[in-house]
Amino acid sequence: MAKRKRKRNPNLIKAKHSYTLAEIAELYKIHPRTAQSWHRTGLNAIDETTRPYLFIGAEIRRFLKEKAQNRKHPLKEGEFFCVKCQEPRRSLNNKLTIEITNKRLGKTYRQAFIRGICEICKQPLRLFSSDRKVQELARAGLIIKEHRTLLIGNGDSSLNTDL
Ligand SMILES: [Zn+2]
Repeated sequence: MAKRKRKRNPNLIKAKHSYTLAEIAELYKIHPRTAQSWHRTGLNAIDETTRPYLFIGAEIRRFLKEKAQNRKHPLKEGEFFCVKCQEPRRSLNNKLTIEITNKRLGKTYRQAFIRGICEICKQPLRLFSSDRKVQELARAGLIIKEHRTLLIGNGDSSLNTDL
């Protein structure tokens, strides 16, 4: 893997201040698109319905810490990072669920969470994902029980398989 190693100081920002994506980009000297991708991949805005999006410092720190952990422990297909084990873990098979939210990732995809239970320590696990990724996992035979409550439209029956 030709991934460059980058270090970001999570303490660059103040926990109780709120920041726009432009300010985050400036602070961390990253491209505004990178800041946007942080938002898409798990950095939660204070209010997802209000623009410009604002991000509280503590949340930015949490996100960067998690990101750093994920880099240290690259996850394989079907793995979660378990905060208790501090290792990539698989979920107990019958505990895997997906939850597709109404939040859009770009134009085409929706944000999804994959939830599981650590097969070693029983810690609840959660992974940010997208509805597209979930379909890929389903095709690979990996998933899962779907929460349909949050799903609107699109009755893709390939996701109904209950393993
Ligand atoms: Zn664990």
